[in-house]
Amino acid sequence: MKLCSVCLNSDILCSGCQRKMENGLISKTDVEVSRALEKTVNVKTDFVRATEHKSQLIIVCEKKDAKLIIGRGGKNVREISKLLGKGVRVIENSGEKKMLEDILGAPVVGINIVYPDEIRRIRIDKRFRKLRADPVLLEKIMGSKYNITFE
Ligand SMILES: [Zn+2]
Repeated sequence: MKLCSVCLNSDILCSGCQRKMENGLISKTDVEVSRALEKTVNVKTDFVRATEHKSQLIIVCEKKDAKLIIGRGGKNVREISKLLGKGVRVIENSGEKKMLEDILGAPVVGINIVYPDEIRRIRIDKRFRKLRADPVLLEKIMGSKYNITFE
């Protein structure tokens, strides 16, 4: 858990959790998501990281937590979305290719690293060329720089 149980149910942070935030171990988004999960998901659950970009919130979590966070028919995700005022997507933490496919909603043919900048080039079949992909969003979620080519 990113927050202690007291802070999960409070509007302020204890000195311990405050220190974690000051040291960059948790972000403001982590705090908001932790509290929203506490309010909406009735069982203990956790997430790996959460990223905000424009009006979207992406929660990366382990496979076992994804179902819980999403809830029956997407019930929990809708509540989290309402609480935080953002569109929420839940992405399972897995290999790079699988995660990119989940985010983009299209199969990835391959990923090549382009030197010298080490930008990661995602190759996608040209049938999917209309997909909307924001490299900034990908970078925030994955921690690497990407561009997309269709072939
Ligand atoms: Zn605390």
